[in-house]
Amino acid sequence: MMKQTQAKTKAKDICKELGLKLTPQRMAILAYLDGNTAHPSAEDIYGAVSRRFPGMSLATVYNTLASLRDKGKLLELTIDPAKKRYDPDTRPHHHLICLDCSRVSDIDHVFDLDVPDSLGYEITGNHIEFYGYCPQCKDKDTAPRLAPGRGHTKER
Ligand code: ZN
Ligand code: MN
Repeated sequence: MMKQTQAKTKAKDICKELGLKLTPQRMAILAYLDGNTAHPSAEDIYGAVSRRFPGMSLATVYNTLASLRDKGKLLELTIDPAKKRYDPDTRPHHHLICLDCSRVSDIDHVFDLDVPDSLGYEITGNHIEFYGYCPQCKDKDTAPRLAPGRGHTKER
């Protein structure tokens, strides 16, 4: 109960800050995202929330996500080539994706990386994407190993 009340207050504050009308649907979207570490897609969010609000449109999900993203309240991840994934954890961190089940996990590690000064950039951040097979998928020998990932990959 307590958690629900807190989530509601938080949702109200966020809507106010974003200049969005606070609707039960929007509140449910915000509650679903709060503390969610699964990096859901818009469709995942719609699927979960529309069970409680069958009349809700996918457009409501999209415009709520866009507002949150534009205000820096939500990370939009492109690590999954099939669909954009969303992360309410906006602290700097990195990600890895399972090429089999598409699970996206966090990497809380500070990589010691430098960009050559000769490029002349002032670097403000980075985001590193890793590709591989999660603990549940790596030992499955039935899984097709066709998805090559992107960038530099190791031959399996
Ligand atoms: Zn997997
Ligand atoms: Mn994350």
